Amino acid sequence: MPRNVSHPDEAIVLKRRFGQGAANIDKYLELDGYKAVQMAIAQGPEMPTWIINVMKASGLRGRGGAGFPTGLKWSFVPKVSEKPKYVLVNGDESEPGTCKDHVIFLEDPHAVIEGTMIAGLAIGSKLGFIYLRGEYRYLLKIVEKAVAEAYAKGFLGKNIFGSGIDFDIITQTGAGAYEVGEESALMESLEGKRGVPRIKPPFPAVVGLYGGPTVINNAETIASAPHILLMGGEAYAKLGSERNGGTRLFGISGHVERPGVYELPMGYNLKKAIYEVAGGVKGGKKLKAVVPGGSSCPVLTADELDVGLDFDQMGKAGTMLGSGGIVVLDETVSIVEFALRVISFYQHESCGWCIPCREGTDWIKKTLARVYAGGGSKKDVDNVQYLAENMMGRTFCPLGDAAAMPTLGFVKKFRKEFEDYIDGNRAGTPVMSEQELV
Ligand code: NAD
Repeated sequence: MPRNVSHPDEAIVLKRRFGQGAANIDKYLELDGYKAVQMAIAQGPEMPTWIINVMKASGLRGRGGAGFPTGLKWSFVPKVSEKPKYVLVNGDESEPGTCKDHVIFLEDPHAVIEGTMIAGLAIGSKLGFIYLRGEYRYLLKIVEKAVAEAYAKGFLGKNIFGSGIDFDIITQTGAGAYEVGEESALMESLEGKRGVPRIKPPFPAVVGLYGGPTVINNAETIASAPHILLMGGEAYAKLGSERNGGTRLFGISGHVERPGVYELPMGYNLKKAIYEVAGGVKGGKKLKAVVPGGSSCPVLTADELDVGLDFDQMGKAGTMLGSGGIVVLDETVSIVEFALRVISFYQHESCGWCIPCREGTDWIKKTLARVYAGGGSKKDVDNVQYLAENMMGRTFCPLGDAAAMPTLGFVKKFRKEFEDYIDGNRAGTPVMSEQELV
């Protein structure tokens, strides 16, 4: 990915983007840093309710991909708890096509720290964790430096901002497993166990880390909180579309002229995002398909792009907004190869805990590999569809669905391309050899 840009008029989360040096606490303070947390503390005994009400009014929905309303999630945490409560920042972004939290950790780590404190104050927690994916270990030193700066200024630790409240932050990295991006597997991992999902309910807001009530949010969600408090919930909500407040980060990659991470209002038109924001299809080629929100999302064809980028409109279009990773595929792409690549990822990353996911991803991969190698039959396309349909909704965590949904999109929308491929009429230009893929 080249350097990131933002839609200049709409930047909220990327307000302190490149060149401003906000990873340094003094610069962050110059750019309104740590004002939101002080504003919250100034509310006195009303503080938790005030924060949650502002977050609810903002219409902010989880930026990790599921779009659960953030204020509502925070309100589910019991006020009184025998066990300690925790805030957990999910920075394990691993969805292929997604690289937005990366920008925040790199450029604005204090926004994550301040957002974690705000979430902590809202739920009555004294301890937050910032969990980065294993492959982001190189970002850990940036985040750790920022945490150390916040301690050195007395913003973290005992009696934060003279409130009488203590708040600490611990950083942690994963070991490179996609599965631990799932919130319950992440908590298992953080507790030092094998990163496999827990059965939900109970949801983490009630029984989470070490059995205590836990708010777990994506890094972008958390980093949005200080901005929301400063500008007001209603003002933030107005930036987006109906029931989808604010702006969000989109990673636009693949065959576009200007790939990058862009901040756009919720509801922004997908076609405009590709053709105006990211400069259109690279080299003026024809667009074949778009993965709209990370690899788990069913693919859209070229004539399905006139749709708003929010959770509801994308749902109505038969796909998902997901984690905002828009991958553009031009006419040279072989969908057979692409489908095999996607399932190969999920087969490799399946934790093996649930049989439909472990076996389903493996059989789909084997079948698509046979097709790709030229030994497939049309029955294989039916079998792939059958396998994917039987994985849906049958696993503890969404990894099974995440593998099945794009597979179903490919075989349903591009069935003819699969059948033509089997007949020897191969569309697109495969870029990887069978040995590399299998
Ligand atoms: P989910 O809908 O089960 O839950 C979303 C959030 O809301 C969770 O935090 C959950 O605890 C909470 N929640 C839901 N119902 C609740 C209730 N009744 N009470 C309290 N809390 C409740 O989705 P999920 O399994 O957390 O995530 C799936 C999404 O993850 C997919 O849509 C996909 O887009 C995304 N994803 C993102 C990445 C990435 O790298 N960012 C990777 C893989 C998948």
